[in-house]
Amino acid sequence: MKKIAVIGAGTMGNGIAHVFAQNGFQVHLIDIAQPSLDKGLATITKNLDRMVAKTSITEQDKENTLGNISTFTDLKEGVAETNLVVEAATENLNIKLQIFKDLDAICDEATILATNTSSISITQIAAVTQRPDKVIGMHFMNPVPIMKLVEIIRGYSTSNEVTETIMKLSSDLGKTPTEVNDYPGFVANRILMPMINEAIETLYNGVAGVQEIDTVMKLGMAHPMGPLQLADFIGLDVCLSILNVMYDGFKNPKYAPCPLLVNMVMAGKLGVKSGEGFYDYAASRKAEKVAAQFS
Ligand code: NAD
Repeated sequence: MKKIAVIGAGTMGNGIAHVFAQNGFQVHLIDIAQPSLDKGLATITKNLDRMVAKTSITEQDKENTLGNISTFTDLKEGVAETNLVVEAATENLNIKLQIFKDLDAICDEATILATNTSSISITQIAAVTQRPDKVIGMHFMNPVPIMKLVEIIRGYSTSNEVTETIMKLSSDLGKTPTEVNDYPGFVANRILMPMINEAIETLYNGVAGVQEIDTVMKLGMAHPMGPLQLADFIGLDVCLSILNVMYDGFKNPKYAPCPLLVNMVMAGKLGVKSGEGFYDYAASRKAEKVAAQFS
């Protein structure tokens, strides 16, 4: 398995492409939007530059990694001759079901179809294909080049052989794969998202401000990042989608998204990727740009 495809060049897709390419795989990075591919490649380049500056890789490693990545806007061209596809498109059930229907029709029958979904049922995605035994969750954590965990989610029909292949592959990428079963939110988000939602609820109820909530959790619980900052980093739209999947899946009100989160997503305040969420990133980027002009 040396040629793989990654679908979606956003926050996660570019990180997944980076890690595979750095480990010698030929990566076909596919997105419906050319600007997303351009932005994704720019992010990979910036992250590799940072690694070169820290001397954790050489300039030659960076060139080799970038040389291993090709970009495509056409799905059929992009998945040609690949034996693994990792889907990391927008967290939306209908988008993913359509992608997997298309993949099943155009990929070789031996190709493994993995999804990086944070919460959508692997079993439901697999059911739209003729190869449910070869569909699996491969849930990387953000930022992918840094975080060690890959949550490997077995759908109802995922075969032992496919699970073993993906567990081994994840280890070969230098990650720590951990096998879990397919229930809403899996393990990572079933535990993380209620905490983030409660932090937003705490803000919504006026108990404390953004900085105060994050400071309590960082200094009091030794979390490297406060929950509101983490939500911004994940993407508030992604958090909302995951909570909705758990709310619908368990029919339990404890997963109901906080109205403030719903409002922020409707207003387009999605966190780091939109420039504003609980924190204002546009302002700090503007300040960085001004500082760079004078340095
Ligand atoms: P994102 O919004 O940053 O990027 C999604 C990308 O998918 C966009 O570039 C979009 O153009 C592209 N896209 C949409 N429809 C497509 C299609 N039909 N074909 C090809 N590309 C398409 O999203 P993200 O945060 O990278 O999330 C991607 C997946 O990873 C989601 O399933 C999400 O739940 C999961 N995930 C996200 C995080 C996180 O911290 N953001 C962590 C783990 C897993």
